[in-house]
Amino acid sequence: MIQIKNAEQIKAMRLAGRITGEALLVVREALKDGVTTKHIDDLIRKYIEKCGATPSFLGYGGFTGSACISINDEVIHGIPSEKRYIREGDIVKIDVGACIHGVHGDSANTFAVGSVSAEATALAKATKESFFEAIKCAKPGFRIGDIGHAVEAYVTERGYSVVREFVGHGIGKDLHEDPSVPNYGTPGRGARLFPGMAIAIEPMVNAGSSKIRQLADGWTVKTADGALSAHYEHTVLITEEEPELLTYVG
Ligand code: MG
Ligand code: MG
Repeated sequence: MIQIKNAEQIKAMRLAGRITGEALLVVREALKDGVTTKHIDDLIRKYIEKCGATPSFLGYGGFTGSACISINDEVIHGIPSEKRYIREGDIVKIDVGACIHGVHGDSANTFAVGSVSAEATALAKATKESFFEAIKCAKPGFRIGDIGHAVEAYVTERGYSVVREFVGHGIGKDLHEDPSVPNYGTPGRGARLFPGMAIAIEPMVNAGSSKIRQLADGWTVKTADGALSAHYEHTVLITEEEPELLTYVG
């Protein structure tokens, strides 16, 4: 069931969203050749805890990190590890959630480590842009299918594909609530958008085929063809007018 947030929950979600967004800013500076994904994860956890919040992902379904850190052809759900090194030229997707006052924020971005290929830069740029296309439909009068269609149309026109097995979602008291927010869809179809809904819109875009495979660790999702993948996500509050990006901190 879709939960419409009350004023008190919205206030708390603004705080959870800000902490989530700031946690991503903190790591931007730390992403360098030779650091481990565990080091980045520790920085994120410490920042969230310093803010009085808890990392939404830590312990979720048994996940051992505070962030999902996925490199190059890894799409999502990379597990932070002290054995995994970040290297110059990598694109690194960091996905973070923070919980405070009983509500969550959820945000992800694709970061370039040093100088990356033109292909990687273009993919990350298109993925981010597809999010901003999608939020043009994140208003009353539109439906979930309009959002998914906007993402898919934008990236497929550029020769990319969207992941279909993993989708965006409602968010609030739970990290994952109804409705599902796929990165594909039919305009005018799906749940209607109302003020007070909060949804995580999160394009996951592959440079090659949309096909994915899951690793034996039970979490990490990679592109099946080994091509690069990018991810961009914000927690979005539907209002009477323009959507409010709760995790966007600039
Ligand atoms: Mg996320
Ligand atoms: Mg999410």
